[in-house]
Amino acid sequence: MAPTILAETPVPLFLMSVAKPLVTIAAFVPYAAVVSGKLEKDAAYYNLKPQKWAAIFLAFGTAALLASLLIPTWFAGFPVMVALLVAPCAWYMSFRNKALAGTKAKPLSFLNVDFAKMSAERRAKAARAGATLRFQAKDRSEHAVPDRKDPAYEAYSALEQLVLAAFDGRATRAELALTKQGAQVQLTVDTMKVRRDPIAGDLATRTVDMLKSFAGLDPADRRKMQRGTVGVLRDGERTVLTVTSVGSMQGETVRIDVEREKQLTIPAAKLGLAEPQAKLLDEHVRPETRGVVLVGARPGQGLTTLCYALLGRHDSLITNIKTLERRHERTVEGVEHADFDSAKSDYATQLQTIVRRGPDIVLATEATDAASVKVIGSPNAKDTLFYVAMPSDSVVDVLAAWLKASGDPKVASERLRAFVGQRLVRRLCQTCRAAYAPSPAEAKMLAIPAGKQVQIYKQTGKVLIKDQPADCPSCRAAGFMGVTAAIEVLPFDDQARSLLAAGDVKGAVMHARRTFKSPSVQDAALLKVRAGETSFDEVKRVFAPPAAAAARPAGTAPAAAAKPAAPAPKPKA
Ligand SMILES: [Zn+2]
Repeated sequence: MAPTILAETPVPLFLMSVAKPLVTIAAFVPYAAVVSGKLEKDAAYYNLKPQKWAAIFLAFGTAALLASLLIPTWFAGFPVMVALLVAPCAWYMSFRNKALAGTKAKPLSFLNVDFAKMSAERRAKAARAGATLRFQAKDRSEHAVPDRKDPAYEAYSALEQLVLAAFDGRATRAELALTKQGAQVQLTVDTMKVRRDPIAGDLATRTVDMLKSFAGLDPADRRKMQRGTVGVLRDGERTVLTVTSVGSMQGETVRIDVEREKQLTIPAAKLGLAEPQAKLLDEHVRPETRGVVLVGARPGQGLTTLCYALLGRHDSLITNIKTLERRHERTVEGVEHADFDSAKSDYATQLQTIVRRGPDIVLATEATDAASVKVIGSPNAKDTLFYVAMPSDSVVDVLAAWLKASGDPKVASERLRAFVGQRLVRRLCQTCRAAYAPSPAEAKMLAIPAGKQVQIYKQTGKVLIKDQPADCPSCRAAGFMGVTAAIEVLPFDDQARSLLAAGDVKGAVMHARRTFKSPSVQDAALLKVRAGETSFDEVKRVFAPPAAAAARPAGTAPAAAAKPAAPAPKPKA
């Protein structure tokens, strides 16, 4: 532009030359928002020729644009343009209100167009698009993803990372130990604890609070035990997290269990029983069996799953099954679960109440005190089969504790029918396990006759890619995928019971094992080595005395896992 003109009318021209195109463009923004955000959706919803209207809106928009460009005087062009933008909207609304007259649909007018709401919806949509995980409330409605500028976004992002780490690492549990300084994070993968990077500072508290509120817990209550669930959507797949929070000495502990219900739902047929053991169970723990079956596993070794699987063997349609648990975590179909309420009375009293109703089967998870053992031995309990959960998989320890609690070995042993104990071992990754011939010492432990050629497997965590060892993609170099249970099923006969009545626990166990040819928990694990399900190293790790097992860093398997060893068999196509 020539400087002479600028000199004649300096300020207004400059302002107008900037303002005019801005105002022109600004007029199109609400038009596009109303048309695409409201009117086109409305036409599609009521099926009012949505394509025809989309074409009309486009045509008027184009005409308005041409008017703004072609009419030389802006003051004349702008009103024409605005009229061309308002007209199709008014036209659609009038057409639509007439078409829907007499229906429940509310008439639409320019007053219904809420620009603030539309822009909030657009922002929420953009935030959702950026999030990998969506969290669902009880009614399956989604919790809003915070906007990137929102301070809550940082906590959402940290929570997302934590849950993704658990998902991608195949963890069954994530634990956060929350203090004022931050949170220590630990995952449980196939019974192994793995430390993760901590969450620092007050972000940890905000992350925990967000998780608690998503799960329907009160974030402000940091002392009382609270439990709730939250659904998580990832790529359309829904996973349920059970969130438990409770106060600790340093602050608060929060536990996230991934698909807890599914973890607790393993049918008896899939528990990991060898065929002879399944037969022993079928023969000695029958629907009509009455008496006591002691069920044992250490903490974290799947005791609840085992108990529920044993209950699941019974037909709940024709048998009356009840439980008295510390806090039942899953409802087994047809089973009447009850939670022990320590505020009301002691465990024995509540067990007594259940027994008086004459159930066929009772699962008692806390019956390790003298009074409870007495209830189970009482005359009105003689028509009931009891599964009593015990916190150890050593049959000797469990029997000794049972006899001690009763105070009378004769009464305590009279109704004993069987012991079922379990310990979890990790399953070898089928992609990278390596076959080898056991050493003579190993062959002896596996009861393989001398001279017989057999192959067993060890974990490697490595595969050969173009002749180069690389981390196994299936198990992410762990060498293991999932767990299986080594289970002991030991029935007691009259002879075993009379040995027990005399207080000879070891003699009774030896007699029963010999009579029923039933392997111990450890021998059951070795059978799984022979079957190629797990490795010698894993059995050694699992059955090592506690101190030695703790000394090994979590997540690493012993020696053999580190080196690629024998070439891994190619993954099955
Ligand atoms: Zn592998």
